[in-house]
Amino acid sequence: MALLEVRNLEVSFGLRSGAVKALRNINFTLDRGERLGLVGESGAGKSVLGFSILNLIAKPGRITGGEILFEGQNLASMSDRDLRSIRGNRISMIFQDPMMTLNPVLTIGQQMVECLMAHRKISRDNARTIAVQKLKQVQIPSPETRIDQYPHELSGGMRQRVVIAIGLLMDPDIIIADEPTTALDVTIQAEIMELMVELCERNNVALILITHDLGVVSQVTQKAIVMYAGRVIEQGPTREIINDAQHPYTQGLMNALPQMAIPGQRLNQIRGSMPGLQKIPTGCAFNPRCDYVMDICHHQLPGYTASGNCQVACHMVAEMKKSAQASEEV
Ligand code: SF4
Ligand code: MG
Repeated sequence: MALLEVRNLEVSFGLRSGAVKALRNINFTLDRGERLGLVGESGAGKSVLGFSILNLIAKPGRITGGEILFEGQNLASMSDRDLRSIRGNRISMIFQDPMMTLNPVLTIGQQMVECLMAHRKISRDNARTIAVQKLKQVQIPSPETRIDQYPHELSGGMRQRVVIAIGLLMDPDIIIADEPTTALDVTIQAEIMELMVELCERNNVALILITHDLGVVSQVTQKAIVMYAGRVIEQGPTREIINDAQHPYTQGLMNALPQMAIPGQRLNQIRGSMPGLQKIPTGCAFNPRCDYVMDICHHQLPGYTASGNCQVACHMVAEMKKSAQASEEV
């Protein structure tokens, strides 16, 4: 059994103008210790998916279909009380802004100790010892003194390390990290991502990494899901997707990576922008931005085509596979 299995997940937002679907037909599995990247531009639905796993979507959003099976238990239909024992404990979340996790009026130590004592029957002294250990794991220098500092006394990079330490505090099975390093400068970003990978590996923690950066996904994850307008448009082993992206949107994201730029030339940004939830084009949602758009793309939602070990939602890819098969049969 997979550690986490998401089946046909659907999330809707009830707006005054009617309900709009923020996520449609999401399916994936995550094994113990596996690292999965959720990638796409902002508005693709990746954060909504991250939050929905813990049933934490802000109103007026809610899960309107499907299942989120964590060790076989459906989190989508679990009571709030039972969910609270999983959130922050078995599955924890790390956000881009450390201040979403850190309370500015408490010391690092107070927050970590309270958190441990809320979930486990341990003494304050023991909780403090564990907290110091975790700070050491995320390479905070002199953790025994740092633990008594307030968040504002630390640099941005140090704060994000503390947030990771808090994410690891309860020895979770899964960490969901939403753009965890985006607010930091590039060298510190790389250091912190490396540290997260190392800690996940050492503790056999599965990671769901939410990011707009395919470059980070390629360095960190084994499996990737590319999202567009609330739908998965390509998913499979990260290496296959990076080396041989099939969906025109994934190809566009690849071409927009700074590493792919020809020196002296502008980056190849995908033209146009992600549609709002209330303005999703019919057929393939990517059709206004796609260089390969065909008639069928305007009126028919593309189903999934298998390509290698990937699943791709694109009419062109489906056509290509069909003609490749036909020529093999001749
Ligand atoms: Fe482009 Fe059509 Fe494929 Fe959508 S389905 S990505 S519009 S070719
Ligand atoms: Mg987001």
